[in-house]
Amino acid sequence: MNDAADPLESFDDATLDRAFEALAGELKADAAAMDAEALRLHWLGRKQGRLKLISEAWLKSAPAEARRALGMRFNELKQRIEAAVEAPASAPSPARSAPGLDITLPGLVRAPGIPHPLLKTMQEIVEVFHNLGYSTSTGPEVETDFYNFEALNFPPNHPARDTQDTLVIANQQGRPTRERLLMRTHTSPVQIRTMIAQAPPVRIVIPGKVHRNDAADATHSPIFHQIEGLCVDTNITFSDLKGTLDHAMKALFGSSVKTRFFPSFFPFTEPSADVQISCIFCAGKGCRKCKQSGWIELLGCGMVDPAVFAAVTEQRTARGVAQRLLGEVNSAYDPAAYDPKRISGFAFGMGVERIAMMQYGVSDIGQFYSGDMRFLEQFA
Ligand SMILES: [Zn+2]
Repeated sequence: MNDAADPLESFDDATLDRAFEALAGELKADAAAMDAEALRLHWLGRKQGRLKLISEAWLKSAPAEARRALGMRFNELKQRIEAAVEAPASAPSPARSAPGLDITLPGLVRAPGIPHPLLKTMQEIVEVFHNLGYSTSTGPEVETDFYNFEALNFPPNHPARDTQDTLVIANQQGRPTRERLLMRTHTSPVQIRTMIAQAPPVRIVIPGKVHRNDAADATHSPIFHQIEGLCVDTNITFSDLKGTLDHAMKALFGSSVKTRFFPSFFPFTEPSADVQISCIFCAGKGCRKCKQSGWIELLGCGMVDPAVFAAVTEQRTARGVAQRLLGEVNSAYDPAAYDPKRISGFAFGMGVERIAMMQYGVSDIGQFYSGDMRFLEQFA
């Protein structure tokens, strides 16, 4: 009974009984295999439904006296179809038991997370210094003027502060200048915090986020990341600084990399130097990346300025007085532990973004912060 318009040979009761029995069987099979909507469309569809096609064909060919009986049988069949559509067969077939589950479909793939390229570079740099016996220190991003500027030898109103314009926290005017809060412009305040808390020897690296009032362009961002280092002990000299940084650059960029030092100025180091490495793209021959010079400037460094040690000593003395007043006598806490006559030290700092841009050949710093998966997936 596949052909909708399969004609009937005669219209006697026996033939009609057989024909409608066959239709009922067909309906039962369909009800088991189809969902309600498909069943409704297949049998009751207004243009191509089985019921319409068959009833039209049979009624047309039926003699006038048989039409009434035939019509009644079609009515009965229609009621059966409607019942089947509204109450699908109680014994569900496997095909309908779990309509949402198709075990042949591919599974969901959840991509594993990876470290952000900036974090990866930061970890690589920190690791180099960990291998040299340095430990990691961190500090707050909201700092006081004292830790961010004054203790690092940027006196109030000194023009050197203009090089590190920052975002200040609102409603600080009522406070003394050194207590006013701002977003730190470098991770150097952690050097001061560490030296106040801990006597020499100190060997620390300080990774972290810093803020400056810089316009964003391809190589600048108002928020970026720095790693600073500080080493203080007896008999620390400039050659220790040179040896340490030369080793670190070779560990990061390969043993063939050369370093050279140029005089520079930072308020918190004296003498200060800029460090250049031989261009890793052209091995020093000269290319677009190094502006044909064969060298790339990568970090700043210098010997810790005695004025920084003086600020630390001032704070350590105040802390020592407070401890005595509170009766917390700590014989190990020597306020004069950072007397420049007894110790010396060096510090250095580098921008993580700048190094990551070199490592991965990224030309726009904004890519690191865009959250664009097409960019980030390349580092998986
Ligand atoms: Zn080059």
